[in-house]
Amino acid sequence: MHIPLQINDQVILEYEHLQQLLTLLQNKEYQVIGPTIRDRAIVYDTLTSIADLPRGYTDEQDGGTYRLKKRSDDALFGYAVGPHSWKQFLHPPSIRLWQAKREHNTFQITQEEQTAPRYAFIGVRSCELHAIAIQDKTLLGSPYTDPVYQARRSNLFIVAVNCGHTGGTCFCVSMQTGPKVTSGYDLALTEIIDAPRHYFVAQVGTPAGIEILQEIAYTEADHDDVQRAEQVVVETAQQMGRSMDTSNIKELLYHNLEHPRWENVANRCLTCGNCTMVCPTCFCTTVEDVTDLMGESAERWRKWDSCFTMDFSYIYGGSMRSSTKSRYRQWMTHKLASWLDQFGTSGCVGCGRCITWCPVGIDITEEVRAIRENKQPISITKRKSDANT
Ligand code: SF4
Ligand code: SF4
Repeated sequence: MHIPLQINDQVILEYEHLQQLLTLLQNKEYQVIGPTIRDRAIVYDTLTSIADLPRGYTDEQDGGTYRLKKRSDDALFGYAVGPHSWKQFLHPPSIRLWQAKREHNTFQITQEEQTAPRYAFIGVRSCELHAIAIQDKTLLGSPYTDPVYQARRSNLFIVAVNCGHTGGTCFCVSMQTGPKVTSGYDLALTEIIDAPRHYFVAQVGTPAGIEILQEIAYTEADHDDVQRAEQVVVETAQQMGRSMDTSNIKELLYHNLEHPRWENVANRCLTCGNCTMVCPTCFCTTVEDVTDLMGESAERWRKWDSCFTMDFSYIYGGSMRSSTKSRYRQWMTHKLASWLDQFGTSGCVGCGRCITWCPVGIDITEEVRAIRENKQPISITKRKSDANT
């Protein structure tokens, strides 16, 4: 018989009891999604058991570089974030909005019935919880909410994991988004390996988390267990791969729209849009209409879009951001400056994905540093007139 649990209580789950957690979530009709190895990377996909987790693997990351490596232990969560983010499940890359079929001389339009999957995410990192909170603001935090996101978000159960390994491109400490999980989870695990013992300190975040824990095997955590879990994130924070000075960053970027560094980065950027696809907070979409060759049916699809394409800013016969310089500047200035004006938060959580998955290794932390080191304030008038060149 378990003792009654309260929010923030911490308990111990032994390694062999983690499978109970997954099975219970599956029995409660959650589609359990978590990290697994595919195409030589750690991606997020459906888990059938804990055997699908990347046990004993870690990653090496740097600008434009990602490698999987074997660890010397059997850690299940001993790596940083990979190319996938949870965005693909809550804000799908492609979704049909409606279909139309010709009936005599008219078209009958059928709205798409959006059935929301009931997801349980396993292994969500602190930066990713912050990214989900940012998407909550952008997609739900105004009178114009996204019903697709809303339905998926309201069904969600989150098992977070405190990071015990920092990636070479992570800078969550600078962005105050990690590595310790602080909010937005139902349960938060810290993985501890004291060979031969392998266990998790589990912290309760919500009543739903309590309900789940009450149905699986756990023991009480003592003071030493809690201290040990704290130490894991303290050590991770000390190993952070990168950092970004965010002081007055909004003013810095707004006042340096004509900095020569934008031209410098434009000479390296391929405008491939990878950075926007892997970013857990980028949310832009476009719509595409598809018709059959006979003109009998049509469909409208919503798809992720990227501010790095020419089409993204196409208005009245031309693209407002025709140069690579203007597109990179738009992306970075939106992330780190105008996002603050729009949503009251930075658009960057310091996950480092845009650095790792940029084919030419462009590093947002390095670009900010270069602008900061050689600030070139310009007048308001000049800034406005040049903003879209
Ligand atoms: S910064 Fe890198 S990932 Fe982003 S568009 Fe340019 S080349 Fe592609
Ligand atoms: S801008 Fe880059 S580091 Fe920041 S959240 Fe997006 S992918 Fe992560």
